[in-house]
Amino acid sequence: MKLLAALLAIVSVHPLGRSWQGRPITAYEVGNPNGTPVLVVGCIHGNEQAGIAIARALEHVAPADLDLWIVPVLNPDGVAHDTRANAHGVDLNRNFPWHWRPMTGVFASGPRPLSEREARIAHALILRLHPHLTVWFHQHRDMVWASGGNRRIEKVFARVSGLPYHPMPQLAGSAISWQNNALPGTTAFAAELPAGPATQIPRYVRAVLAAARTP
Ligand SMILES: [Zn+2]
Repeated sequence: MKLLAALLAIVSVHPLGRSWQGRPITAYEVGNPNGTPVLVVGCIHGNEQAGIAIARALEHVAPADLDLWIVPVLNPDGVAHDTRANAHGVDLNRNFPWHWRPMTGVFASGPRPLSEREARIAHALILRLHPHLTVWFHQHRDMVWASGGNRRIEKVFARVSGLPYHPMPQLAGSAISWQNNALPGTTAFAAELPAGPATQIPRYVRAVLAAARTP
């Protein structure tokens, strides 16, 4: 029965493209294609991998009211090498267009906005989906990093997940700041998990669904 539910839960698999080193980047769509669009990205910083297990768990829910898109890994080269950055040494979360500026070192922002394949893939997907809610999993600050989205939605996620809620600054070049500014009326935030492998995965699944259903 559980297996049957899991099989029924998969609506479709969308190959989005490949990383610089040729690794596939894939989205899984579950639920109702006519429902509220929601996006979850399990891992953008390759050395922050705890969200991948939560993303995988979300592939097995079948919300009748949500069009739930899941990208378990946006930065597969970073995961392969256990690095924050992609294979070009760029922090993908500083490569988005909102207030992009040149940065080097750990926050290297790339030669120009959307210079990186992986960032372009996410950018195109987000413009196509126009998600009501996007949850980006990070580590390991143990908080909801709320910066520019709908606070009611962010606080629902915080309450259900147990992650403390923190209003934080918007970040130049971040995916979340780009979304919250470029797509008014939508909400994106970072779920900063604690260090180590994910625990309480069902609780995060419930938190995503509860936040997604908050108008
Ligand atoms: Zn991160």
